[in-house]
Amino acid sequence: MPRTSLTPAQREQSLSDMSSEPVDLLVVGGGVTGAGIALDAATRGMRVAIVEAQDWAGGTSQWSSKLVHGGLRYLYQLNFALVAEALKERGLLLTRTAPHLVKAQPFLWPLKTPVVERSYSAVGVGMYDMLSQFGGGGQSAVPSQRHYSKEGARELFPGIRGDALVGAIRFYDARVDDARLVLDLVRTARGYGAMCASRTQVTGYLKETVDGTERVTGAVLRDLEAGRDLEVRATYVVNATGVWTERTQDLATDKGGLRVLASKGIHIVVPKDRIDGEAGIFLRTEKSVLFIIPWDRHWVIGTTDTEWTEDLQHPVTTSTDIDYVLEQANSVLARTLTREDIVGTYAGLRPLLQPKTKGRGVLGQGLA
Ligand SMILES: Cc1cc2nc3c(=O)[nH]c(=O)nc-3n(C[C@H](O)[C@H](O)[C@H](O)COP(=O)(O)OP(=O)(O)OC[C@H]3O[C@@H](n4cnc5c(N)ncnc54)[C@H](O)[C@@H]3O)c2cc1C
Repeated sequence: MPRTSLTPAQREQSLSDMSSEPVDLLVVGGGVTGAGIALDAATRGMRVAIVEAQDWAGGTSQWSSKLVHGGLRYLYQLNFALVAEALKERGLLLTRTAPHLVKAQPFLWPLKTPVVERSYSAVGVGMYDMLSQFGGGGQSAVPSQRHYSKEGARELFPGIRGDALVGAIRFYDARVDDARLVLDLVRTARGYGAMCASRTQVTGYLKETVDGTERVTGAVLRDLEAGRDLEVRATYVVNATGVWTERTQDLATDKGGLRVLASKGIHIVVPKDRIDGEAGIFLRTEKSVLFIIPWDRHWVIGTTDTEWTEDLQHPVTTSTDIDYVLEQANSVLARTLTREDIVGTYAGLRPLLQPKTKGRGVLGQGLA
């Protein structure tokens, strides 16, 4: 059996190993954050265990817009350091660490007014390109921006409405198979010796008081396949449970801690032949941004940004969500999309870290 496979036998072995001898690090949550932490720690030679209550990427990490982007809109918030770091990682994923899963993706940004909007957008995209080159040691992993007249843009994307633009800018980002990226991270971590168990939920924490300070020294796990409980002792425990963060930390302390707001974003999926174009489309909307992304034989279109207070495991797309996305997409599409064109929808929850103040949190901070 190759050491990187994630099989029932490997899972059983991992559970047995992690509960029989203490680990340096226990990672709780097998989304992209937890999987990345586990891989990073395993490659540094730590004895690492990672557990996930559902399947790998069972939470937010399989319901994203599937883009690896630097967050163009953060440039307009002047957060250069964040964008530079994200673009550097985008370049590494495209060229070295995951070129089989991460692909360069051109986007057309339709401009509605001449001169001022073009200059404003060109500066933003130009800086985006520059930071991308900077992160790649002088060479970007994707082509730089290109400007189009209205006719040029419609040649590139015949499915765009003539009255929706006076011209356009084409820029590049990257798309990713988000769930497979998580699986590959976990498998690679496994290859470096990490013990990995899905369908394994942390239900409590082990604690000790040393010099008057109480600290977490491990966790109680529920093996959801076998219905048994296990204990893992750990020098460090990382809570990487996304929108479940407050619940998971409540198992460890009643003193509070991080506050995380669940912000729902939905996408609709339509067959490829419903829109005539090859590039993606990027739109700045009143509330956020909207992407129309080519995805194999389909288009993925989204997203929204609304607070979600129901069951965290099963966010759902509402009729209002669909109307909003259709309205935004139809503002630029020549052939009007209707509900009949939709072959699927999906919804995910952004874990938005909140300031530690009382009251309702802030929406509109997600990556997409
Ligand atoms: C609509 C939408 C679009 C997005 N688009 C993009 C995008 O294009 N690009 C981008 O980079 N980001 C995007 N994001 C953001 C990105 O998806 C998230 O930031 C990321 O997936 C969060 O990963 P995570 O590992 O922190 O959380 P999750 O993926 O939710 O992982 C947390 C895991 O913890 C597990 N868990 C919870 N409690 C326990 C427990 N007690 N024991 C064990 N396991 C537990 C859960 O089952 C879950 O799998 C988008 C998000 C949304 C919602």
